Amino acid sequence: MTTTGHCLCGAVKISVTDLPTDMHACHCENCRRAGVIGMTVPVAAKNLEVTGQEAIGVYDSSEWGQRAFCKTCGSNLWFRAKEPDADFYLSPGLLDDLSTLRLVDEIFIDSKPAAYAFAGPTNQMTGDEFFAMIASSAKGNQP
Ligand SMILES: [Zn+2]
Ligand SMILES: [Zn+2]
Repeated sequence: MTTTGHCLCGAVKISVTDLPTDMHACHCENCRRAGVIGMTVPVAAKNLEVTGQEAIGVYDSSEWGQRAFCKTCGSNLWFRAKEPDADFYLSPGLLDDLSTLRLVDEIFIDSKPAAYAFAGPTNQMTGDEFFAMIASSAKGNQP
């Protein structure tokens, strides 16, 4: 099954095969400054088709991560590790149909401002817990 989407101005168009149902929220400082709350759906590189490459700007937001945006309208497109085959953490707001998605977890919950909260229930992880999880799964992937 294919799900389509586009940025606010339409310069960047996406097409996703086998869209996952799990949506994630990140309350870290970088996501907050880039657009209030980082909402993402992880999509494997092989399942994402993008048109309008010339409209895409990329910002190195950390040593290991990049954020892409539309240079015309400023829409957040995705977050991605700086590796050629890395998954795209796509902004769900780009999609034409979000009806199959559900919010399952929130990371960097310790950085969430008191001003807002999701109704939940969600699995919540602090920044330290998240980094510990990344470290242990990275170790597990080593040959
Ligand atoms: Zn745009
Ligand atoms: Zn974040």
